Amino acid sequence: MPQYVIELLYLLSGILFIMGLKGMSHPDTARRGMFYAEFGMLIAIIGTLMQHEIVRYDWIIGGLAIGSILGLAMGLWVPMTAMPQRTALSHAFGALAAALVGVSEFYRHGGHLEPFKLGALGFEVLLGSLTTTGSLIAFGKLQGILPGQPLVFKGQNVFNMTVLVVTVGSFISLFLFPQYGGVFYLMVGLALVFGVLLVIPIGSADMPVVMSLLNSYAGLASAATGFALGNNVLIIAGTLDGFSGFILSVLMCKAMNRSMANVLFGAFGSASAQGAGAGAGGEMREISLDDAAVQLAYARQVVFVPGYGMATAQAQHVIRELGETLEERGVTVKYAIHPVAGRMPGHMNVLLAEANVPYSELYELEQINPDFLSTDVAVIVGANDVVNPDARDNPGSPISGMPILEVDHAKLAIVLKRGKGRGFSGLENPLFFKEKTAMLYGDAKETLTNLVQAVHKL
Ligand code: NAP
Repeated sequence: MPQYVIELLYLLSGILFIMGLKGMSHPDTARRGMFYAEFGMLIAIIGTLMQHEIVRYDWIIGGLAIGSILGLAMGLWVPMTAMPQRTALSHAFGALAAALVGVSEFYRHGGHLEPFKLGALGFEVLLGSLTTTGSLIAFGKLQGILPGQPLVFKGQNVFNMTVLVVTVGSFISLFLFPQYGGVFYLMVGLALVFGVLLVIPIGSADMPVVMSLLNSYAGLASAATGFALGNNVLIIAGTLDGFSGFILSVLMCKAMNRSMANVLFGAFGSASAQGAGAGAGGEMREISLDDAAVQLAYARQVVFVPGYGMATAQAQHVIRELGETLEERGVTVKYAIHPVAGRMPGHMNVLLAEANVPYSELYELEQINPDFLSTDVAVIVGANDVVNPDARDNPGSPISGMPILEVDHAKLAIVLKRGKGRGFSGLENPLFFKEKTAMLYGDAKETLTNLVQAVHKL
């Protein structure tokens, strides 16, 4: 196959990746965007399989078969709620592949590489190695295999900085002593250690930000692989991945009103950051299912506020059912979406779209907050941190400044949760102790199902 055909296929797949990203920027076009991206990846694989450098296909076919089986199994059976840890594993594998390609290139060509290729290769292995171990630690924390709390020790930032400086130092030494393999392998080892050090002081609540940052590193490692191997599609896809991951991390930090430095070095969620919120204390008032149903059935406007608990309970379908039941009675129903509700960006949008909640009923934080003043009932379905008024009212709170959904401005806030469990930040929520708040305990799906029946009976 002539090389220009392969390059044309790579160009086509690059265009499809960009169309995919564009499509994914809106829930209405997200599915189509995913399809474009998948089709782009298929074309990139076909183009790569046509490369002249390939001398035998047996290992490649074996890899393709194993990868496809694993990918299919993960796609079919990993639940939506475990998506963050699944993504962490994918990053680890992607970064490991980039690092291994770099190590094998260095092993084969060693000291004979020209400086540009050596630089690209060193960069690829450095980022690939630290992303591999960093993503594995992120996976362990999110899956609950490792403690979710930040692991901190005295002088940690100085120690981490020292390891980073020595790692970067050995990368630079590669240019001076390319013939000494030892320097290269020292850099690989230190980068693997640095990946662990980078992620252990970060609490599980901040893991999604770290993951999109690691995603960005994996992308940049792939782009560097493209430069090292002279492969254009890797350069395009890696750069897109690298920068979109970085932009996503910045957007998530913004949504939590935290700086990137605070996320990476602040040990958010550590023991010192916990404790009761200001105004938290006294009694939580309970409401019976029947009373809650009456409040909903005779309201003019009801706003549902979904959170992580809705995702774990898989209550998205029944929330829509309750919404429709209320609409049939003439109630105006809206859904308030906080940008970091759940455990990954767009988590609530994806689940509600899956349940066919009309997109026109979904409101972003800035749009819905003024509306709470004229809302009769705000129904908080397994959300906690994103409705914690301490973020707005208590400057001493670790989440101070994080924008919240101001459900405490509604005439009544009914909170659906199983018990007195805290949100992912580990903080107490003063909302639950307010006069206008009523707690309705139980699994969100079960409670919503019972509410639908109770409203029907009225
Ligand atoms: P949250 O603060 O983690 O609270 C979830 C609540 O759901 C818990 O208090 C829990 O209370 C309840 N719950 C759990 N299972 C339930 C079930 N089956 N039925 C009913 N309730 C259930 O959730 P959130 O308000 O969505 O906040 C998200 C957190 O993740 C924030 O701290 C945010 O900063 C962080 N985060 C998210 C992202 C992202 O991209 N989305 C990124 C970075 C950080 P009980 O145990 O009492 O039931």
